[in-house]
Parts: sequence; structure tokens; C-alpha cells
Amino acid sequence: MSSPSDDLGRLVADLRAYLRQQRDTGVEWFIDPGADQAPAAVAALEPAVASAVTVRPAAARSEKPSRAVAPPAPAAPKDDPSAAVRAAFVKDTLELLARRREAMPAADIFHAPAAAPVRLTPAQKGEALDAIAREVAPCTQCKLARTRTQTVFGTGSPDAGVVFVGEAPGREEDERGEPFVGRAGQLLNDILKAIGLRREDVYICNILKCRPPENRVPEGDEVEACEPYLKRQLEIIDPAVICCLGRHAAHTLLRTNATLGALREQVHFYGSVPVIVTYHPAALLRNPHWKRPAWDDVRKLRALYDALQTGR
Ligand code: URA
Repeated sequence: MSSPSDDLGRLVADLRAYLRQQRDTGVEWFIDPGADQAPAAVAALEPAVASAVTVRPAAARSEKPSRAVAPPAPAAPKDDPSAAVRAAFVKDTLELLARRREAMPAADIFHAPAAAPVRLTPAQKGEALDAIAREVAPCTQCKLARTRTQTVFGTGSPDAGVVFVGEAPGREEDERGEPFVGRAGQLLNDILKAIGLRREDVYICNILKCRPPENRVPEGDEVEACEPYLKRQLEIIDPAVICCLGRHAAHTLLRTNATLGALREQVHFYGSVPVIVTYHPAALLRNPHWKRPAWDDVRKLRALYDALQTGR
């Protein structure tokens, strides 16, 4: 029979192995912080955990019309069984994407000359987004204009390869004018870090640019009034991949009423841009057991982004 000290030793060994695995896969956010105790405990047990994901500074931005390149993904452990699932997902998505692009209507050879797709430079994209942000700031297209502190347009790289779309600003976002800066935003930052990205490497915005009172869900007339702004943002950024955070974002962007479970099961398309749907970070804060499937989703997102980045 084992003594209590043997049991404790095994428990500590298991915990160390668990933390090491989290570090190796970059999943610090997976460890539920329970206010601010866990990070210190993690750091004490495994000092390397806190600095496991090193993020290279963004590559110097050329003014050529080329996609901004995000830092490389953290290396996955060699014996990671989920790597095969991700590889199959990427392969299937690339095939679907190729078929979709083939099926896109050809240019009208009898009328308009086939216009080459206009690729904006990063600076042009920034200017175009700034112009829309100036239009949005005084917007009174819906009733939320009466209760907001300010509009929350979007943040990040105008040339981002990945755009994250949330639902609507909350209280802190409404106060600060920036999306995802509250607790859910902190978790989103951790999720990004776990897949080797920073806020500056991606673009983050919402379906609605104004906070609904008491953070209630967006209403139809509000979505209808605000969605054209998002559409223009996405057209300008022209990302390689879009990630919908939560079902409200997905319902608007994908014109569906499917459940989040169903939406997570497959890749979707917004025009010819692949869309991955995952849990909203606020939902992950309420239901930490969803972090595991969310981790699977965001690793797929990163794998697809990498594949598209090399293929573009
Ligand atoms: N939730 C959202 O959907 N968006 C934010 O910006 C913040 C919280």
C-alpha cells in the first residue's frame, strides 16, 4: 500500500508532466487561472512555462501589396496524435477552396474587361480602414448610438492574414474604444499567444460597432445597420482566414442558424475566404471544459493559415 507521501509525490509528478505538456503545446490559457493564483503557481513549478512561446517581432512591413507574415507557429510535440487530424482538415479545406475558386463566375468576356483583382498595399489598407472608422464614429444608423460611449471599430494589422470576428463591444470595450480588452479579451490574447500570434499580427473586430445595453445579444435591426461596415472591413483586409468567435458572429457572417456544435464541425466560406467557427472567449470563461475543443479549433485555424500563407 502506498504512503501519503508517495501519493503526493506522484501527484506532483503528474502535475509537472501536465504543465510540461501545456508548455510544449503552448497552451497556457488552458490552465484555468482562477483569478491570478495559477500563473504564479505555474511559474513556480515550471519557470519555463511563462516564456515558452517566444514571438518574433513582426517582419518589417514592405509597402508592396503582399500579405503581412505572422511569426511561425509554436512547434507541436512530435508524437501529437491531433496533428494528423489537422493535416486532413487543411488538405480537405484547400481542396474545397480550389473547387470554390474554380466555380466562381468567370469575367464577362463580352462586356467589362476582366479586371485584375486589386491588391492594396498595407498602407492603402490602413488608410481605407481609417476612412471607414471615421464614418463609423458618428454613426446613428441604429438605436445603439443613443446608449454607446463610443464606437468600437476594430484593431490590429490592416494587412492581417487572420481576422477574428466577435459579437459586440462590452462595457470595457465601450469605455476604451477597442475590441476585446476585458476578461474575454485577455483570454483571446492568451489563445492567440498559444498559436504563436499577437494582437498586432491579426485583426480583431465585431459584428456590431456599438455596445448593446447590458450586453444583451444584438438585435436584427442593429445587425442589419452595422454589417455593411464589417463587410467593407473584410473586403479591404482580404484575410486568408476568418475566425468567428461564437455563434452570433457566425450566424451573421454565414447566414445560418445552425448550432455552434454543428458550425464547429466543418469549415465554411465567406466568399472565397475559409471561415472557422469556435467558442466565444466569454463562453470559455463560463465553461472552462470547452477550452479543450476550442484549442483543437484554433490549432486548425493556425494550420490552415500557415498552409494558405505558403500557398498564396
Ligand atoms: N465580446 C465581444 O464579442 N466583443 C468584444 O469586443 C468584447 C467582448
